[in-house]
Amino acid sequence: MIKIRGLIKRYGEFEALKGIDLDVAPGEFLVVLGPSGAGKSTLLRCINRLAEPTSGDIFIDGQRVAGDSASLRKLRCQVAMIFQHYNVVPRLSVQKNVLTGRLGAMPSLLSWLQVFPCKDIAIARECLRRVELEDKAELRTDTLSGGQKQRVGIARALAQQPKIILADEPVASLDPKTSRTVLSYLKQASRELGITVVCNLHQIDYAREFGERIVGVSAGRVVFEGRPDELSDAALQRIYPGLDEGDARRSSPSAGMAEPALHQFALEEA
Ligand code: ADP
Ligand code: MG
Repeated sequence: MIKIRGLIKRYGEFEALKGIDLDVAPGEFLVVLGPSGAGKSTLLRCINRLAEPTSGDIFIDGQRVAGDSASLRKLRCQVAMIFQHYNVVPRLSVQKNVLTGRLGAMPSLLSWLQVFPCKDIAIARECLRRVELEDKAELRTDTLSGGQKQRVGIARALAQQPKIILADEPVASLDPKTSRTVLSYLKQASRELGITVVCNLHQIDYAREFGERIVGVSAGRVVFEGRPDELSDAALQRIYPGLDEGDARRSSPSAGMAEPALHQFALEEA
């Protein structure tokens, strides 16, 4: 579904991505794990062309993504984003926020007038049902909790009916229980609808719990690629240089006591 070859991204002299090769299979839920500054956001931004790669190639469904406006329009229809800070419009209703996911598919006059066809309203409702927020559809979005706002963010992404969802630290602003709920909604929807997800995270325990595959990124390079059960202490050391053994062990769900060590870690990274 996504094929990345030799992706380099420089900001001036600084090389944020140092030659990334990556394949994401159709329908896969891939977690990109790495510390703050590793280049995770830059990677997602290059995939959807919010950032222009310095060199290298990105293919979606076998087609090379180029920077011309026709390619970009097609790309933006196929790829939806979920952001750390939700990016919802606070004063709009929950349903209107979800409907903004339909704007790219609508005739421009209707979208300018904010007149939504019945079909799009039905899609928005169905997406709200998936994140169990149907009963909040008419409320102003700023009356919702953080976790609910991110569920609106998920519903908006789903309303776009994308092939791919790129989620950039979608739970970095949420508490552990809410984080798991939000990630569960995202994973379940993507599985049921066959949507490919690339989800950036910096929390080891969530990566293990939700990733079907994990790609570890450190200082602009892929330093690990494998299933969650292959994420060894040695691999964690490569992703998080300086992580002490105790932290790595405590981060293992099987070792119990995962939360305290990891939360501290998550806060440090946030
Ligand atoms: P992550 O999402 O893993 O925290 P980022 O992709 O945001 O990492 O950033 C990777 C590196 O690139 C960081 O060192 C960051 O400071 C740098 N960087 C990111 N965006 C820009 C930018 N627009 N201009 C200059 N440097 C940037
Ligand atoms: Mg980031």
